[in-house]
Amino acid sequence: MLKRGKKLAMIGMAVLMAASVFTGCGNSSGKTSDGKVEISWMASTQPQEKVIYQKIIKKFEQKYPNVKIKFITADSDTYNQKLTAAASSNTLPDVYYVGSGDVRKWADNNQLLDIQKYVDQSKLDDMWTSALDSYRYNGKEIGKGDLYALPRSTGPFIMAYNKTMFEKAGIPLPDPKKPYTWDQFVQIAKQLTKDTNGDGKMDQFGTGLAAQFSLQSFVWSNGGDWLDDTHKKVTVDTPEFIEALQYFVDMQNKYKITPSISETQSLGGYQRWLKGQMAFYAAATWDISTFNKSLPFDYGLMTPPVSPKTNKPATWVQSVGFGISAKTKHPKEAVQFITYLSADKEGNKEEAAEDLQMPNVKSVADSDYFSKAKPVNISEFKNAVENYGRRMPAEYTYTSAWYDEFFTNIQPVLDGKVSPSEYCKKEQPKMQKLLDDSYKQQQAAKKK
Ligand code: CA
Repeated sequence: MLKRGKKLAMIGMAVLMAASVFTGCGNSSGKTSDGKVEISWMASTQPQEKVIYQKIIKKFEQKYPNVKIKFITADSDTYNQKLTAAASSNTLPDVYYVGSGDVRKWADNNQLLDIQKYVDQSKLDDMWTSALDSYRYNGKEIGKGDLYALPRSTGPFIMAYNKTMFEKAGIPLPDPKKPYTWDQFVQIAKQLTKDTNGDGKMDQFGTGLAAQFSLQSFVWSNGGDWLDDTHKKVTVDTPEFIEALQYFVDMQNKYKITPSISETQSLGGYQRWLKGQMAFYAAATWDISTFNKSLPFDYGLMTPPVSPKTNKPATWVQSVGFGISAKTKHPKEAVQFITYLSADKEGNKEEAAEDLQMPNVKSVADSDYFSKAKPVNISEFKNAVENYGRRMPAEYTYTSAWYDEFFTNIQPVLDGKVSPSEYCKKEQPKMQKLLDDSYKQQQAAKKK
């Protein structure tokens, strides 16, 4: 069974101060025996990514012959553990992955180098501003101040549709220039929710989205949010928020365009999408390689549907970056290396060609390497990053417990047993307390 969310799990990592096993990633002299500067890089890689990175490293070493890269790979299951161990024993590799939500934590704990004075700005001009901003931190807020990492990947979460299903039903394909309103979305999804063989059981559904990953788009498009602008007040009890959650729940319980609870238990939404039983499903950049290889139907990408209140689409964008240990002996060379990994055009092209990610470099994203890749409207990812992507709410805060709390007990709401209004009003004070705690923890970490 194909599993989703491996990269999501990695992105969400909060890896500090747990185990204390010496892993030997660290670099005591920082020089090789023949006098070159040695930069260690620990990465979690898939086999095909490893090959691409080895090529990129080779090219980098040709360009900078005084530098040797020590490439340490781990699979995604053990990477976090290894990195945590290295952090707690002060043996972090020179270069490591930092999730866009974890910059504050690594920086506040003096593990992550402020790279601002070492970066060559001219190399960053062709990169997504929003992706770079995810790694800016001024000691108080994320998104402002000095750079602490450079993006490895930028992943917006948009929507995919089953093109074959549309064509069979004679329904016009989604307009790439004009997103559906919520009403239109429900109407089309209703037409595509069917018992195709007349046995009384549904075999085809409009959609079936997971709240953890898809609710954000609906809330934001309706003008709601989890936090106010100061990021200090939880706002899940506002009318805009509650209305969006109501719509989300109505897709199952009122409009019946999703599998029922028991149908979901027998087969999850992602599996149904892969089998061609669903008209609309969520899609991130890291899904594309799987979709292209394994979907038994044609598919397309589209902007998520918009609330009639704002007519503006919204979605979240997460990123993983290359950070540098605050204890590196060679900050200049380490920054040269991550700049190469992040911003090199040839490297970006190779990665795009392998369906690994959306290019970090804008001109590569505009070129045929990406814009002509499958599926046809893959540039919707670019549109999301440039025009309607946002950071996940917990990326603004020191801890995410306040945010996680919202989803921990949400199932009865999704099942139609508790009203969104009742739930949100009950959750707000609980979440607010956890958020207040988060600010206290941040204060305490900074005093150290
Ligand atoms: Ca049937």
